[in-house]
Amino acid sequence: MAKKIHHIVRRPGKNNGDPDIEIPVAEDLVTQPGNPTRDVDVSFYGREHPLEAHFVENSADREWLWSQYTPEFSKWRIDHEKRDGPLVDAAAVSGDINPTMEADPDLDHTDLIRQKARDLGFHEVGFTRYDRRYTYASKKRWVKFPHAICLAYEQGYEGTQKIPSEEAEHVHFGTYAIEGQIALDLAAYIRTIGYQAQVHSHSDSSAPYIPMFVAAGLGQLGANGQLLMPHFGSRGRLMIITTDAPVQYDDPIDYGFNRFCEICQICVNRCPSNALVRDKVWWRGALKNKVNYGRCRAVMGRYDGCSICMKVCPVQKFGMKPVMDHYVKTGQVLGKGTDDLEGFDLKGKGYFGPGQKPHFPKDFFEIPRGRFENWIFEQLKNQLVDRDPTPQELRRFGNKVREALKVKRETTG
Ligand code: SF4
Ligand code: SF4
Repeated sequence: MAKKIHHIVRRPGKNNGDPDIEIPVAEDLVTQPGNPTRDVDVSFYGREHPLEAHFVENSADREWLWSQYTPEFSKWRIDHEKRDGPLVDAAAVSGDINPTMEADPDLDHTDLIRQKARDLGFHEVGFTRYDRRYTYASKKRWVKFPHAICLAYEQGYEGTQKIPSEEAEHVHFGTYAIEGQIALDLAAYIRTIGYQAQVHSHSDSSAPYIPMFVAAGLGQLGANGQLLMPHFGSRGRLMIITTDAPVQYDDPIDYGFNRFCEICQICVNRCPSNALVRDKVWWRGALKNKVNYGRCRAVMGRYDGCSICMKVCPVQKFGMKPVMDHYVKTGQVLGKGTDDLEGFDLKGKGYFGPGQKPHFPKDFFEIPRGRFENWIFEQLKNQLVDRDPTPQELRRFGNKVREALKVKRETTG
């Protein structure tokens, strides 16, 4: 049955020069612009328990992850690091470079930067305050400027539909290399209009970026724990540039997804590791479907980055407008229950259509957890239960502690 429309969200077309799109939001999907947050809790956690970057917080599974790659993918990934590494290094020092021209206070910097970002190829651009409450502990002293330019680049459609596969991983990492370069180009441009710009690299994030993208009106958080953006759902890779250029902030938008996800639930039902949950909880001041990292990682690491929760999302596949048009017309979720949207292959396990999921034994989920230094102590502790460690084991333990300290120094500066 047709639904009543409460409001229509108008957004720029996906590519530079494309016409605007109009997304109808049905009356029964309306909640609030952005996502529900408790500001006082966000401040408390940011101050008392700041987050840490994923690669620091979960450093224990890094070696394990590489051990799961095929020789071909290991080689591809090493080549990718060689291509991407210089971009990440350039981003790390980008905030120290001075502007190349005098600033003109009469210019509209917001429009200039937005247009340049679109000319360079970014598909989504928004402006908001850089919210330091989300900054990772090891990045607190690195972030320099107050305004955030939120930038998303679309990951290729065709490759993404082959998730999970090495081919899809090539597209995923390849997107980082493209946007890593054009973000540096955009920062260089900002310096030519008289201001500083610091590139927050995708591979060396300063914070979880989603709350700032939501504040800038670029999407809403989905039940898959990812940002759902108008044109490609969570099939967009996110970066931030911070600047001292005076810019006007955008506002958060209610696209209807706080409620729509509660109705849809495809990603929750299709997640092979049951890492996604139906019910939302308050977590560090945000009301969200909290992903179980350990369960997810065990599948993600073994099955080419998994990302089935991205692939099966109708917004990823069709875009927000067709999904919301269909909902307004029928009250149904576009593509739900079809093999086309919900089906996936897991290497060695075969094809799983709607309603079918693989089974994994309990020990499948026993992978290295947490920080590397904590993990190696945990292993030694377990050994001490039955016997004294041998001198070789102690020597190996000492080497690993030294390695952990070295990694810590490199990642926290
Ligand atoms: S990446 Fe895979 S295992 Fe992890 S939450 Fe998504 S669907 Fe589940
Ligand atoms: S699959 Fe459905 S429930 Fe999951 S994020 Fe996408 S719209 Fe939301």
